Amino acid sequence: MIDNNRLRIAVQKSGRLCEGSMELLKAIGVKLSIRDRLLIAHSTNLPVDLLRVRDDDIPGLVMDGVVDLGFIGENELEEKMLERKAADKQHQYDVLERLDFGGCRLSIAVPNEMQYQGMASLNGKKIATTYPYLLERYFREQKIDAKAVMLNGSVEVAPRAGLADAICDLVSTGATLEANGLEEKEVIFRSKAVLIQRRGEMPQPKQQLIDKLLTRINGVMQAKESKYIMLHAPKDKLDEVKALLPGAENPTLLPLAGNDNSVAVHVVSTETMFWETMEKLKALGCRSILVLPIEKMLG
Ligand code: ATP
Ligand code: MG
Repeated sequence: MIDNNRLRIAVQKSGRLCEGSMELLKAIGVKLSIRDRLLIAHSTNLPVDLLRVRDDDIPGLVMDGVVDLGFIGENELEEKMLERKAADKQHQYDVLERLDFGGCRLSIAVPNEMQYQGMASLNGKKIATTYPYLLERYFREQKIDAKAVMLNGSVEVAPRAGLADAICDLVSTGATLEANGLEEKEVIFRSKAVLIQRRGEMPQPKQQLIDKLLTRINGVMQAKESKYIMLHAPKDKLDEVKALLPGAENPTLLPLAGNDNSVAVHVVSTETMFWETMEKLKALGCRSILVLPIEKMLG
């Protein structure tokens, strides 16, 4: 049963965004009991229902107001927005957060044997893609007269099959392109997963829950980038030590039992701690240098 008082979140049921979305939900304290075949999963500790669907459906579900939130790749979101706009359908939404997973780029790739001398080489050509609206927008911007041919799968074999001259597809490492004798030439869109919210009135308790979850998401993302650094530093080198520690304006200094020459320095750093920095600290006389991961942060 669908209960309108519960927050409805759409996630990809399986695929590249699934793990990142589920891990994030878990990290922000949304407990779920997932039964594999079911479309809906209820949270056991919060008024949250999860709608598990194909990623293609998520932008539409949010834009139509069927769900309150959705985790989706920007590529799919922007494509569906353009498609719906062209069809005069609801295409509004708000991005609550750009997330740190699902990174990829949408690129034009051409067969190795094609004489490619820049975008102009694509004039009069057919380009196979799952993202015709994004591709055609790019062609308009670049003033290229090429045709997007829509293919829902196996885009990378289209040139060999004689269906198109080149392709425009998602790339992360480029291995698939290489395996199919294709060369990446133009990046037309850079994408990450985002959390989006539907437009329109939101009952107060639901909005409060969204705000709370969003604060937790920020806490999880901040924690991932941060480290807790502990070390023993010689007292007479403290200024130099502080200058080396990234983002360490207010370190905690603690006395060391039985050692008057050194103090323990504890600090949360929002920047990466490189081996080079640790080696410099050691050269200054610091000892027991520890860099620890942080699980959650608030405030
Ligand atoms: P569904 O069955 O839900 O429709 P799908 O096959 O359309 O799944 P996936 O391959 O799981 O989609 O990709 C989902 C999203 O993951 C992409 O739209 C993109 O935002 C992101 N992504 C990240 N890296 C890649 C990649 N290397 N290739 C394709 N998509 C990627
Ligand atoms: Mg899909």
